Amino acid sequence: MKIICIGRNYADHAKELNNEVPSEPVIFCKGDNALIPKGHPFHYPAHTHELHFELELVIRITRVGKHIDTQFAHKYYDEIGLGIDFTARDVQQKCKEKGLPWEKAKAFDFSAPLGKKFVKISDLPDPKSIKFEMKKNGETVQLGDSSLMLFPFDQLISEVSKYFTLKMGDLIFTGTPKGVGPVEKGDVLEGFLEDERLINLKVK
Ligand code: MG
Repeated sequence: MKIICIGRNYADHAKELNNEVPSEPVIFCKGDNALIPKGHPFHYPAHTHELHFELELVIRITRVGKHIDTQFAHKYYDEIGLGIDFTARDVQQKCKEKGLPWEKAKAFDFSAPLGKKFVKISDLPDPKSIKFEMKKNGETVQLGDSSLMLFPFDQLISEVSKYFTLKMGDLIFTGTPKGVGPVEKGDVLEGFLEDERLINLKVK
């Protein structure tokens, strides 16, 4: 499986990092090394001094597809979960300045922890406006709403599948809302989908 991530999919987050609001989705990838095995602790990575959390809605692909038309994209997923797109912001800044790829900043080991489960989108109160929230040490730091995405799920699937064949089990991290910020050792991050806590991660 592969992990495909979308950058700058919420205008208010693009602005907070002084990035342009994109005219097409910003796409990058992580390998399966980015997932955290069940029960494995999360340690602050040694190669950064500015580790940022980015809470994101994650869709899981249920069938193979290439060049998927937006109008058929809903047939390729039916569940949603949460994930953290951990980012070494200091490393990313250097990569951007030099025009280099982002992998060292984005795709390192354990950089994409997932919530404990995925839920059926049809079971949510409003599938067009999915709410999610990040708390750091008990305080709300990010509030997300899927209705504010610049490129909605179906459009992302269509766009991504122009370049990458989507396969069963592939994950798409759909971008983060504003409020990203640093974590320190000892911090606790909790991710909520609607009112259910799916992520409870301590930084060691
Ligand atoms: Mg992100």
